[in-house]
Amino acid sequence: MLSHAVSRELDFAELASTFAAAPVGLAVFDRDGRYVRVNEELCRINGVPADQHLGRLVYDVVPGLGEQVFGMIQRIFETGETLRDLEFSGETRREPGVLRHWISGLFPVRDGSGAVVAVGCWVTEITERKRAEAALEASRLQLAMSVQAAGLVLATIDYRSNENHLSAELVRLMELGEGPMVVPRQVIFDRIHPEDRQRYLDAIARTIDPAGNGHLAIDVRALLPSGQVRWLHILLQVTFSMVDGELRPDKGYCAAHDVTAERLAAQQLREADRRKDEFIATLAHELRNLLAPIRNGLEILRRTANLPAGAVRIRDIMDRQLRHLVRLVDDLLDVSRISRGKVELRPQDLTLDQVVEHALEAGHPAIEAARHTLSVSLPKPPARLHGDLTRLAQIVGNLLSNATKYTPPGGRIDVTGRVEGGEVVLEVADNGIGIAPENLPRVFDLFSQVDRTLARTQGGLGIGLWLVKQLVELHHGRIEAFSEGPDRGSLFRVRLPLT
Ligand code: ADP
Repeated sequence: MLSHAVSRELDFAELASTFAAAPVGLAVFDRDGRYVRVNEELCRINGVPADQHLGRLVYDVVPGLGEQVFGMIQRIFETGETLRDLEFSGETRREPGVLRHWISGLFPVRDGSGAVVAVGCWVTEITERKRAEAALEASRLQLAMSVQAAGLVLATIDYRSNENHLSAELVRLMELGEGPMVVPRQVIFDRIHPEDRQRYLDAIARTIDPAGNGHLAIDVRALLPSGQVRWLHILLQVTFSMVDGELRPDKGYCAAHDVTAERLAAQQLREADRRKDEFIATLAHELRNLLAPIRNGLEILRRTANLPAGAVRIRDIMDRQLRHLVRLVDDLLDVSRISRGKVELRPQDLTLDQVVEHALEAGHPAIEAARHTLSVSLPKPPARLHGDLTRLAQIVGNLLSNATKYTPPGGRIDVTGRVEGGEVVLEVADNGIGIAPENLPRVFDLFSQVDRTLARTQGGLGIGLWLVKQLVELHHGRIEAFSEGPDRGSLFRVRLPLT
C-alpha cells in the first residue's frame, strides 16, 4: 500500500525516529485517505495501537471526523496547500460518549519532482484546555448572572496605576456616563458624600495596609451631580504583592450594592415604631387620668351604707372590672416606659420571701376565687437579692396571675424557690392548659397571645410575659418557659443573681 515515493522520503533512520518520538501526534495519509504512518503520540491520543490505524480510514478511528478530514486530504492532493490550526471535536472509538478536542494541521508531502504523493498531519489534544476554558466561561456567566440578579455594581482598582475599572452599572449609578470606564481613583472619592469622606478614607487606608487582611465592608453615601444621595454597601478585597522586597497593595476587587431603599425603609420603620410607643404612652396616660375619678366615685359608693342589694351587686361588678382596666392601663404604661428605656429601678437589699409575699398579697383573691390549691416553698435561710421590690413582685405577680388564668378552676399552683450556683431560682408551675411546643418560643413576644379566645375573655393583651422578661433582664436575670404540651401544665423559671 505504501507508495514508493513516500517510503523513500521517510527512509532516513533519523527522520523516522524523530517522527516516532515527536510529542505531537503525526500521521501520513495516502490518496485514499488511509493511514500509512502514525507515531506513538497519535496512537496515544486516539487510544488505539498503530496496527489499528495502518491501512484504515480516519472514519475507522475517529468516526465523527471521517468525511471532513477525507475532504481536506483530497483538496491538498489537488491544490498542494497547507491547512493550519484546524480545531476538531469528536469522540474516539475507544471512549465513545466523551467529547474530545484537537488542534491539527494538514500539509502536502512531495516527492523529488514536487508532486504531492501523500498528506501529512499533526495533531495535539486540547481537551483539557477546552474543558478549563468551558469551566471558566461557565463561572464567568454564573458570576455575571449573580451580579445582575443581586443588582451589584463592580470596580477593580489598580493600586499601582491608581486606575479604577468601573462596570457599566457603576458608571451609570455614579452618573459618570454610559458603558464600562477606566477612571482615576480620585473620581470615585469625589463622589463620596462630604460627611462620609473622612470615614471612607480612613477605612480605605486601613484596608490597603499590608498588615491587615485587605478586607473592607462599609456603608457610605454617594452625593451625585444630580443632587441625589445614594447609600452604598461596599465590599472590597485588596490583594498584595511583593515589590522591591516590600509588600504593597496590588489590586482591589470591589462589589457594591445600592441600599438606599432598605435604609429608608428601616428609618421609616423606626420612626413608625417610635410614634407607636408615643401613642401608647399618651393613650395610657389619658386613660389613667379618666379612670381616677371613676375610682374615687366607686370608693365613695363602697363607703355608702344602706345601698339597695341590686346597687351593691352592680357596684361590685364595676369595681372588679375597673381593677382589671387599671391593671391593663398600668401594663400599657410599663410597655411604653420600657420601650423608651425610661424605667427607673429603685434597687434595695431584700429577700425572695419579701418578693413572693408582696406578689401574693395582690394575687391571693383571684387564686381563691378560682379555688386553686397554692403551695409555696422557699429556701431557708431566705435567699438574698438586690433589686426593685415593686418590679420583682410584679414579675412574680404576673406569673401567678397567668397560672391562675390559664388553669381550670380547682387546679394547683406551686411556687418554688432555691439557690443554685450563685443564682436565685424561682419557679411558678401550674397544672393548667399548658402551651403547645410550637407556641413556646413566642410566649415572651409583645402582643402575642397563644389562645386569643381565652385571653380576650380574661382581658389580656399579650403583654404580661413580655413585661416580665424585660423586668427580669433589667435585673440581669433570665426567664424560661416549659410545658409538655396542651393540658400538661406550664412552668416558668426565673433566675436572678444572688447578692
Ligand atoms: P396575656 O395578657 O394574653 O395573658 P401574656 O404575655 O401574659 O399575655 O401571655 C402570653 C400568652 O402565653 C398567653 O396569651 C397564653 O396563651 C400563654 N400563657 C402564659 N402563661 C401561661 C400559663 N401559665 N399556662 C398556659 N399558657 C400561658
